[in-house]
Amino acid sequence: PFFKEFVPQIKIDRNLALARLMANENPYGPSPMGLEAFTKAAASGNRYAWSELFALIDKIAAKEGVTAENILMGPGSSDILEKVGMVFFLEGGNIVSADPSYMSMMKVAEAIGATWKGVPLKKDWSHDLKAMEKAIDADTKLVYICNPNNPTGSLTDFDELRDFCSRVSDRVPVFVDEAYLDFLDEPEKKSMVDLVARGKNVIVARTFSKIYGMAGLRVGYGVGLTETMARLSKITRGGMGISYPSVYAATAALDDSAFIKKSKDLNTETREYVCGELKKMGIKYVPSYTSFVIFPIEMDGQEYLSAMQAEGVLVRAFEFMGQKWCRVSMGTMDEMKQFVGAFKKVTA
Ligand code: PLP
Repeated sequence: PFFKEFVPQIKIDRNLALARLMANENPYGPSPMGLEAFTKAAASGNRYAWSELFALIDKIAAKEGVTAENILMGPGSSDILEKVGMVFFLEGGNIVSADPSYMSMMKVAEAIGATWKGVPLKKDWSHDLKAMEKAIDADTKLVYICNPNNPTGSLTDFDELRDFCSRVSDRVPVFVDEAYLDFLDEPEKKSMVDLVARGKNVIVARTFSKIYGMAGLRVGYGVGLTETMARLSKITRGGMGISYPSVYAATAALDDSAFIKKSKDLNTETREYVCGELKKMGIKYVPSYTSFVIFPIEMDGQEYLSAMQAEGVLVRAFEFMGQKWCRVSMGTMDEMKQFVGAFKKVTA
């Protein structure tokens, strides 16, 4: 495994108008319908969410075409990733995933004694599903797939992934993280969640943090077989971690189709702008299906982060495949213009 992240060394100057383009946050959120529900519900925050949480679970189950027993709620999908990591790797073993990918579950698995088998992405930035299948051995407890992938923003063909999940999940559970799926256009976008309804040992993670703009309100969920969810529920009471008003916010946000459309359309617009500017500069960015774009940088990662930060722009920097990379999240158009200006100045 050769995936490395650079950590900025300078303190944030709060006087600068900082463009927060480092955490794949939705710059337009939260969903107005979600926010209204959250605000109203806050006054009842002396209560635990019981029936309200069950109502949210029912609503999600209906949306995903499964039953309430197939759903595990959590304060963000991070909670699902971490809990699955803890439960599945208690007795060691290994986790197979792409390298680079979103590291949350692999970090938990490694911390409790499991090993990570990172399989390099293919040249076209998709998952190397054949190599991943070969990497599975008698000690593999779970395969983690992030589609579209973070930090690359790249997509793995849905039909190939469905074949992979159907076949491989007979041997070992497959976890599919769909945090960025909603940024795809409708005919193109295909969730793996129907495999759960067909009895396949697949766990799908979804979040309210991205398209719904609720990263700080913390709601996410996993969809899996009843047996899997029962096994996880022994360790976690998932929904207990979600605040009362956030339960209301998520319930309302599910119906906020106007905001979902706005988020997706503006994300596409800013992404096209950034990619257009990078192209003009002759920079070979990775085609993105998400709310962020990754592209190669020539500077030292830490120096680059510091210089961008001095220009009021927060981004991320990584090193993998023998190359340094910047990952920039889509902010508002003004922020993206600020980013392009800062980038030109820093790399001039
Ligand atoms: N999965 C992926 C691929 C992510 O990029 C993120 C956050 O950036 C998460 C999961 C966790 O998000 P949250 O806990 O807010 O749902």
